[in-house]
Amino acid sequence: MNEFELIERFFTRAVPAGGIVQQGVGDDCALLDCGERLLAMTTDLLLEGRHFLPGIDPASLGHKALAVNLSDLAAAGASPRAFQLALALPRADEAWLEAFCRGLFALADEHGCALAGGDTTRVPRLAWASAQVDGPLTICITALGDLPRQAVRTRGGACVGDDLWVSGTVGDARAALACRSGELAGVSADDAAAFGRRMDWPQPRVALGVALRGAATAAIDVSDGLLGDLGHILKRSGVGAVVEWERVPCSAALRSLPVERQQNCALAGGDDYELLFTAAPGQRAAVEAAGAVSGVPVTRIGRIVGADDRLRVLDANGLELPTPWQSFDHFA
Ligand code: ADP
Ligand code: MG
Repeated sequence: MNEFELIERFFTRAVPAGGIVQQGVGDDCALLDCGERLLAMTTDLLLEGRHFLPGIDPASLGHKALAVNLSDLAAAGASPRAFQLALALPRADEAWLEAFCRGLFALADEHGCALAGGDTTRVPRLAWASAQVDGPLTICITALGDLPRQAVRTRGGACVGDDLWVSGTVGDARAALACRSGELAGVSADDAAAFGRRMDWPQPRVALGVALRGAATAAIDVSDGLLGDLGHILKRSGVGAVVEWERVPCSAALRSLPVERQQNCALAGGDDYELLFTAAPGQRAAVEAAGAVSGVPVTRIGRIVGADDRLRVLDANGLELPTPWQSFDHFA
């Protein structure tokens, strides 16, 4: 059972008709019906040893814990409003907490997203190989945003014939992980630092998400890998897609790596927090304009086709690329 089968089997339930939940489990955000406007709600949990390494810069951790939630709001086209913060800490370390808060609140203030509550607890010490160690530092944020009722956008709206777009560049965060784990050697210090910034300080595409209201038919944020996250759009929209590898935007640093590494990082690497979205060809000017007003480049990387054509990646000669890699799955 993989992560998504687990969620589908145990936690996907019919939402009561006429209740507040308009969109439940299965999208980047839940949508709650609040009359004129909809409330978008999302939760992400970051666990030491799983999502970040022990000893990580606490300022970047504070930033990233909120950024991954704002990224889900961006996918839904919601404007961030408030968040709750649940923390399980091994100890009350003042210097650590000050740096964590600096990173967290700089991003919160930038987006007008107010801390509205939360919970704080101490993680227990655990017996581990005849020693005592701290349990993992854990951060869980639930963020709320809102959007006009007519601006609803989910993973389920892609139509055959739509263009497929992605914001910014993809693959750098996965390259950072490869550098840090020693899986990738010989990268210049400058390139390694550039990869690291993408992994540690992701920029949620909130302004772009809002600017795409009415233009994009479906969207998701790239958290687990471009092809894996595209698969969620395809499944929920009942369509297939063709991706043209040559069009996939990568940084100059990533382009300097061997091509198989570029493909693996850009197509299967997670943690990019770019927006992957679809829009009708008649909306190309509107999509470009949304990119321009939000200051984020947008690139057309393929198109939506019928479900029978599944998901194919083509090289410059139009030949299908083998894509043997898996996007991130906690239980795969
Ligand atoms: P994202 O990557 O956008 O944060 P996830 O892949 O984590 O989304 O989750 C997929 C969907 O499953 C989301 O709609 C999320 O709300 C839902 N989900 C995940 N875990 C649970 C759970 N334990 N209970 C209910 N819903 C869940
Ligand atoms: Mg998401």
